[in-house]
Amino acid sequence: MSYIYEDYDVIVVGAGHAGCEAALAAARLSLNTLMFTVSVDSIALMPCNPNIGGTSKGHLVREIDALGGEMGKNIDRTYIQSKMLNVSKGPAVHSLRAQADKREYSSYMRKVLENTPKLTIKQAEVTEILAQDNRITGVKTFSGATYPCKAVVLCTGTYLNARCIYGDVVSHTGPNGLQAATHLTESLKALGIEMYRFKTGTPARIDRRSIDFSKMEEQFGDEKVVPFSFTTDPEALKKEQVSCWLTYTNEKTHEIIRANIDRSPLYSGDIKGTGARYCPSIEDKVVRFADKERHQVFIEPEGMYTNEMYIAGMSSSLPEDVQHQMYRSVPGLENANIVRNAYAIEYDCINPMQLKPSLEFKEIEGLFAGGQFNGSSGYEEAAAQGLVAGINAAMKILGREPLIIDRSEAYIGVLIDDLVTKETNEPYRMMTSRAEYRLLLRQDNADIRLTRKGYEIGLISEERYQRLKLKEDEIEKEIARLERTVVGAGKEVQKLLESHGSSPLNTASTLADLIRRPELSYEILEAIDKDRIKLDDDVIEQVNINIKYDGYIKRQLRQVEQFKKLENRKIPEDIDYIAVPSLRIEARQKLIKFKPISIGQASRISGVSPADISILLVYLTQYKVKEKMPAAGGVQS
Ligand SMILES: Cc1cc2nc3c(=O)[nH]c(=O)nc-3n(C[C@H](O)[C@H](O)[C@H](O)COP(=O)(O)OP(=O)(O)OC[C@H]3O[C@@H](n4cnc5c(N)ncnc54)[C@H](O)[C@@H]3O)c2cc1C
Repeated sequence: MSYIYEDYDVIVVGAGHAGCEAALAAARLSLNTLMFTVSVDSIALMPCNPNIGGTSKGHLVREIDALGGEMGKNIDRTYIQSKMLNVSKGPAVHSLRAQADKREYSSYMRKVLENTPKLTIKQAEVTEILAQDNRITGVKTFSGATYPCKAVVLCTGTYLNARCIYGDVVSHTGPNGLQAATHLTESLKALGIEMYRFKTGTPARIDRRSIDFSKMEEQFGDEKVVPFSFTTDPEALKKEQVSCWLTYTNEKTHEIIRANIDRSPLYSGDIKGTGARYCPSIEDKVVRFADKERHQVFIEPEGMYTNEMYIAGMSSSLPEDVQHQMYRSVPGLENANIVRNAYAIEYDCINPMQLKPSLEFKEIEGLFAGGQFNGSSGYEEAAAQGLVAGINAAMKILGREPLIIDRSEAYIGVLIDDLVTKETNEPYRMMTSRAEYRLLLRQDNADIRLTRKGYEIGLISEERYQRLKLKEDEIEKEIARLERTVVGAGKEVQKLLESHGSSPLNTASTLADLIRRPELSYEILEAIDKDRIKLDDDVIEQVNINIKYDGYIKRQLRQVEQFKKLENRKIPEDIDYIAVPSLRIEARQKLIKFKPISIGQASRISGVSPADISILLVYLTQYKVKEKMPAAGGVQS
């Protein structure tokens, strides 16, 4: 059947964490949007860990929210435990992490999608991408139906030619036994797209009735829950939270694994896909960290609706019988009933260096991509890319400038720049160490960094934008007030300093200087700060951080200035690298292949040296001059 449907503006292939954000962004920017999935019952499915956030991932979720995305709101609605991680360290690594009720998370996201104007959802496998003269024209589905459109966003996750494996048990399905997508890869290859084969894995799920929690350390959520979304009222988050539990593997566990390592498809070579170094399976950990006596294992509830417990830290693809012994060797799991076996999944994805920083393919106009399909791993990484890809598909159709976020503005900028500029040969997982300007890119100031962009794009309401401006104003005024408010070395002040182990004042000091003392804070000085007005917690947080880290923040801002100089030095699209004298061969080849958009991006491509960059900078200056030189006798343009 070759039925042709009516035109759509944007077609999103995928309803995972990337697809949901992409489709919502395009529809909310008033474009007629169609979202495909192989199963509408798996919208925003969490096939692996039942949590959102964590170190650096929490930053991404806050940034998605600041730009007008949905993930932050959705986890605030459906969380069952929440914790701010790394609070004993500096604010740059404070990160929210929340356990989600997986089914609630999926059904709530589905409700939002199903009630978004201009958004249509369809259950069908997209088998072909249609293009003419390197420009998108539509897609075709398994039934042979054709859907014309102006832009396509590919967010196929772990489904393309998916293969699930444990021991010698292989099934050609997507996660959780869902249908795999087995046709699209060939269509993408026919369009000249370079594909990779990656792998990831998940642990078993165990029936909580078979777990002895008395042998584990109970892990509680935070009493005062901080929302992911800047639109969520913290009061609305108050609810009873569930616990997680901590236990450990031991020598017996490691022995069982070592004795059966030859039966692991990972080590027998049956798994060809490349896995994430930073998300190793338990067998990988035992082999790679042989000196470690034990590995942490967190027991996490999958949701309020089920007894299934997620065994974090023990993903595996070992055979069933080995899994049974291995899990039962862990304290508290001696009588474990495995509900779902652990398994690894292989899937096709792309080499993301084929994408521009806007996440549009360099060689196919109107084709965008986001999520695990781009070689990343994780719900948060996927959602961040889906949002940017969806926004830029819309910007393209609306004839507006694409949203390009650079490394100094957000973790989203670091994520996308690393994917499209640096060769990645394994699933890419975000980490704070990847962000050179992490003191500026904190999770607490994501709104100040990005909400203005979201407003300019059209995803942030006027009301929310005005609230942000008010917040910024309050922060600025309060910092200025504290910098000019002087307190003397009076009895009350000295008593307060002494009660917090802070050295007494010899002369008068500003309140700001007192806040700069590590043992003091804005909250502590309330008693001696007579003119103070009531401010919200998030404003106070900004006041504290901006005063305490003032010097470091200023230094990083100076580094960003240098960075921006090269980032804003654009490279003309039609530059001929062959004509650039004395560029090294390797650099010339890389620059021709990857077509960086700026000197900054070029400087991060492996194989392009600082010397090559200097040559390029000189050439660009002349390049400009040459352009201006009038043809003999002509008029200056
Ligand atoms: C077994 C397993 C273990 C994992 N382990 C980890 C881990 O340890 N750490 C971690 O960070 N992340 C892990 N992940 C990854 C995590 O699940 C993904 O990062 C995340 O789900 C990616 O989101 P996405 O939107 O890119 O894709 P997905 O959530 O995979 O969604 C893809 C969507 O595309 C649809 N689709 C695909 N192809 C087609 C087609 N041709 N036509 C129509 N619809 C199509 C699917 O129906 C689905 O809706 C794991 C995933 C799996 C499956």
